Amino acid sequence: MIRIENLTKRFKKLQALGDINALFNKGQVISLIGPNGSGKTTLIKSILGMVKPDSGCIYVDTKPINGDPSYRSQIGYMPQIGHYPDNMKVGHLFNMMKNIRKVSDAALDTDLLVKFNLVSIFDKPMRTLSGGTRQKVSAALAFYFNPDILILDEPTAGLDPLSSEILKEKIIEEKKKNKLILITSHILSDLDELTTHVMYLQEGKMIFLKDIGTLRQETGQDRLGKAIARIM
Ligand code: ADP
Repeated sequence: MIRIENLTKRFKKLQALGDINALFNKGQVISLIGPNGSGKTTLIKSILGMVKPDSGCIYVDTKPINGDPSYRSQIGYMPQIGHYPDNMKVGHLFNMMKNIRKVSDAALDTDLLVKFNLVSIFDKPMRTLSGGTRQKVSAALAFYFNPDILILDEPTAGLDPLSSEILKEKIIEEKKKNKLILITSHILSDLDELTTHVMYLQEGKMIFLKDIGTLRQETGQDRLGKAIARIM
């Protein structure tokens, strides 16, 4: 579903991504892990067409994405920090998403809208919302148009424990529907129950991409954090 071939990106002298090759398929939850500055966000933005690679290519299905965000219509993206126009009302954001992604009412996924009780704040401007509520809006927007691919950047950051659980359950449901999910999180215990594969980046290089079974077997550790610590 997503194929990354020899992807390289430099910011002046700094190599943010160096010769990354990977294949992600339907039904996989890929946990993208690595220290700060290891290139996770640059990789996500490259897949979204928001960063243009210096060389190499990313294919979504068979379409090449070379810094062209118009190809991302089937990708639901939950950014680490959502930037929304201050005066835009919550309901308007959801309407815009529906119209831009051209989805019928029947195809919309309103599950998180309901579970996060967002309909009751549809007429509130974004500037009046707390950080946590903005995060819930970001999450519900990513799932709203029922995309085949989800990219979730630190999805549980800033969420209260109950909302975190709701979101994790939602991710598990989407995984069962055979979607492809890419997720980054500093809270490795959050990833434990979701992950099928771990992609580990360091200084822009892919150190490994392994399925969780292999990782557990190789390290003798069930917990993701311990398994990664063991392999490094
Ligand atoms: P991570 O998400 O793993 O923390 P990033 O992908 O954000 O890492 O960053 C990888 C490296 O690229 C870092 O050293 C960062 O400072 C640098 N970088 C990222 N974006 C830019 C940019 N727009 N301009 C210059 N350097 C950047």
